[in-house]
Amino acid sequence: MIVILKHGVKEEKKEQLINWLKTLHLGVHISDGSFQTVLGLIGDTSHVDIDLIASLEIVDSVKRVSEPFKCCNRKFHPEDTIVEVGDVKIGSGNFCMIAGPCSVESEEQIVSIAKSVKEAGANILRGGAFKPRTSPYDFQGMQADGIELLKIARQETGLPIVTEIMGIKHLSLFEDVDIIQVGARNMQNFDLLKELGRLRKPILLKRGLANTLKELLMSAEYIMAGGNEQVILCERGIRTFDDYTRNTLDLAAVPMLRELTHLPIIVDPSHATGIARLVPPMALSGAACGADGLIIEVHNDPMHALCDGAQSLRPEEYAVLAHKVRQIREVINA
Ligand code: PEP
Ligand code: MN
Repeated sequence: MIVILKHGVKEEKKEQLINWLKTLHLGVHISDGSFQTVLGLIGDTSHVDIDLIASLEIVDSVKRVSEPFKCCNRKFHPEDTIVEVGDVKIGSGNFCMIAGPCSVESEEQIVSIAKSVKEAGANILRGGAFKPRTSPYDFQGMQADGIELLKIARQETGLPIVTEIMGIKHLSLFEDVDIIQVGARNMQNFDLLKELGRLRKPILLKRGLANTLKELLMSAEYIMAGGNEQVILCERGIRTFDDYTRNTLDLAAVPMLRELTHLPIIVDPSHATGIARLVPPMALSGAACGADGLIIEVHNDPMHALCDGAQSLRPEEYAVLAHKVRQIREVINA
């Protein structure tokens, strides 16, 4: 249920109402926007007298929210959320360009890629240290050492870093990571999501291979219910019957999620297509349909990459793409 307050109500009256609502064993999520204050009621509202609340002097209107996701629901929080990572803002017109290799492979590799993507205009560095591979015989990532190398690349370039966590037992290694990524395969690892909800750190939550948008939002809800409101959603393609591309990029998810949630939404054209030459057109499409950013795999030597070389752009290809993305952004912002 949401309670929309009248414009300009006194702080004291608002407090009184919130305290009373809490006595009804409800969680109260407060969204103070520039035009209105919205109180989102979380919990069992079946016993709440909607007419009584609507009749209060400071209340403009009351509505029941039928969706099971509450904290991430735009009805609870009408204004876009902006996630901040150092100087970088994501959401509400702030566009992020996340780039880097699928996996961290060596100090030289990650530092050189970090420098080139930064020069091309990227503002966040990606790199996998723990890799979820389909085969147990494939490279599993440099793990803890990989995280240390990402920190060196951050120091060298000033770019904040994002890297994937695969299990709760590794959480302490991520203390100094700027954004923690939850990969597609872990989107419904609810124990992990709950732990991440206890942090106060941005989480990049990727859509599962075969998950609906409602399920994605319910996973965001797990993180937010714990009090961590800094969640970025990522559309990275879903599994369909077609197998020319690695996945099918569901771009309609972007404007659909935009209606449903206030969280930033980014697009990953690399894992969505699996083919480097398809990455630029799909990245531009992601920017054109209103995404808040792109996460793109870039490798200095894709032929010899230890993971996902086929979908990795070379630094010079990324630079050309990044320029075109800025042009698309200018057009859609005009
Ligand atoms: C990745 O970003 O390297 C990755 C494994 O992505 P996804 O979880 O979307 O497959
Ligand atoms: Mn990858």
